[in-house]
Amino acid sequence: MEVIKNSLGQSHDIIRSIVKKGDSAIDATAGNGNDTAFLAELVGEAGMVYSFDIQSEALQKTAALLDKRGLSERATLIRDGHQNMDRYVSGDVKAVMFNLGYLPGGDHSIGTRAETTIQAVENGMGLIAVGGIISVVVYYGGDSGFDEKEAFMRYIQEIDYRRFKVMKTEFVNQPNCPPILVCIERLK
Ligand code: SAM
Repeated sequence: MEVIKNSLGQSHDIIRSIVKKGDSAIDATAGNGNDTAFLAELVGEAGMVYSFDIQSEALQKTAALLDKRGLSERATLIRDGHQNMDRYVSGDVKAVMFNLGYLPGGDHSIGTRAETTIQAVENGMGLIAVGGIISVVVYYGGDSGFDEKEAFMRYIQEIDYRRFKVMKTEFVNQPNCPPILVCIERLK
């Protein structure tokens, strides 16, 4: 296996290092359910994952994956936009994971959007515990276009450095718009 993992693998390594049994976490873009299942393993039986998607197709796929892996009790699936996450979850969440873009194998026109993504990340920053992490894997190019990526990259530069540490990791010599990883850690 290569030492330098792709953006998704790097996001999992960071999240794995902080999410412990009994924690609460959010999957802001459930999609096919892979990150929800990943978080459900980490939080254990005593923890809870709140998983959002606007498409019922995505939540059905997520539910099926959780069921197959015996993890259904550890997740609450919510059909609503992640920009409304604070209506369903209250503070001290250890991690919030985003995978931007569209549902793989689904309708490419129903993807994440700059305005709601930024609103959701703002909400997430209000929910994470000190030391908690928001990870955002930014898919762009192709059917996703560039608008969301550009607006999001502008937005993260303005986040208060006294309260949040923001890191961006990108591959600089790969073709076809390789996804970018952004991590936001709450400092105080
Ligand atoms: N993490 C997923 C996985 O492991 O399979 C992949 C996520 S996919 C790239 C992005 C998902 O975000 C799509 O399923 C899409 O329906 C969802 N989405 C788009 N806008 C959303 C919003 N405002 N709130 C919540 N989910 C949204």
